[in-house]
Amino acid sequence: MTENRTLFAALRQSADASATDAIEKLVREGKDHQLCRVNALDLAARAGVDEERMIAALLHAARLGLFEMSWNVLCPGCGGVLDTASSLKSVDRSEYACALCACGYEPTLDEMVEVTFTVSPRVRTIAAHEPARLSPAEYCRQMFWSSGVDLPEASFEKMLEAVTLEMIELPPNEKALLSLTLPAEFVIVFDPVTHTAQFIDVKGELTRERQTLTIVYSRTHAPTTATLTMHPGPLRLTLENRTDLRLVPGVYIANQTMHDLLGRRKPFLTAKRLLTNQTFRDIYRTDTLDVDQRLKITSLTFLFTDLKGSTELYERVGDLVAFDLVKEHFKILHEIIAAEAGAVVKTIGDAVMATFPTPDRAIAAALRIREAMLRLNDKHRSEDLLLKIGIHEGPCLAVTLNDRQDYFGQTVNIASRVQALAVSRSILATGSVVDNPQASELLETGGIKPTSRRLPLRGIADDLAVYEIP
Ligand SMILES: [Zn+2]
Repeated sequence: MTENRTLFAALRQSADASATDAIEKLVREGKDHQLCRVNALDLAARAGVDEERMIAALLHAARLGLFEMSWNVLCPGCGGVLDTASSLKSVDRSEYACALCACGYEPTLDEMVEVTFTVSPRVRTIAAHEPARLSPAEYCRQMFWSSGVDLPEASFEKMLEAVTLEMIELPPNEKALLSLTLPAEFVIVFDPVTHTAQFIDVKGELTRERQTLTIVYSRTHAPTTATLTMHPGPLRLTLENRTDLRLVPGVYIANQTMHDLLGRRKPFLTAKRLLTNQTFRDIYRTDTLDVDQRLKITSLTFLFTDLKGSTELYERVGDLVAFDLVKEHFKILHEIIAAEAGAVVKTIGDAVMATFPTPDRAIAAALRIREAMLRLNDKHRSEDLLLKIGIHEGPCLAVTLNDRQDYFGQTVNIASRVQALAVSRSILATGSVVDNPQASELLETGGIKPTSRRLPLRGIADDLAVYEIP
């Protein structure tokens, strides 16, 4: 425990105090399952800590070895974890299939990849460190469902029982024989370890004759997910495990309770959100994606800034004074961008390229940056720092360019061009930004009415609506 104290003291050096307190309390008092795949946003909400500070604290905790970070590919349908890895580099398939939902999905970083934190064995051992020793119900809770499924803490077992006909442990290379009575409902035989499902549509006349079904689990090929039709009545089910894994197959009824159980969702830390987090970028500078890896993001907001007339500034006040001023302006930009859930991707001369998970955060940051620049000019009794800001939102690819996690695509080009259209102190944003519901709410609350500029971006987007945010 002395080692833990040392580690938490180290965490306190780099992370927010209340976030550190919440994490330390969780490690000391939390139940085992609460320390497996911790949902950063959920923990922040429960502890009453700012989300960005909690994410940063957990990242520092992972860096210090208190927690282990994992990147999980999720099924958008059932919220199940389809694949898990310690790095985003392993998310390399063009499609991930969910047997439970009988559906394949192309991975995107918006909602399909979550980032969770599990306590490290050297800090505290929990049952999930050995998943093969978890009970079938706990395996479902801790290993199958993602941190975005809002499983009820108190009534979880009751709800699971209400949808379960049978649930067993099946040791490696063993066979189990189950005798059960099929109700006249849609039934799913599902094993969350191998992700295999067999659907049975139970309908028609009640039979007294024993029906039989054999399901073989193997590593090499999953049984077909074609739906079988059976009658209500007795079933002899043989489950054969030809893998070297402990399986936890169950027979479930796809009824309303199951839909209710799977339909409960809560916000979670997405890969997109983490990539655009400043602390993450600072800690994992280059080691996020492979050189040839490209991952889709459906919606990311880009903000570009540039100093107007910086050449004249250097001439007027001299290099030394100008350097300090420009440095001060960079520091302010970094702080505001990070506080609004954004991250600086790169600086190009006096220009900055930043990303945000949503348009409203980018607008909030832009307004704060403009205010801060006014104050900075007042302090120096000059008009030296005149910033031009452009914002655009759209799809892009997360890539590695020049040893840096960067973004690629037309959205990035347009954002940069929109910024180039801005004059001093102006914030220009495209239609996709100001029309975003949260963004327009933010503007309305602030009594800000964007004016349409309809500036053509020749060669890229001739009819793009561009707005000036006064
Ligand atoms: Zn699914």
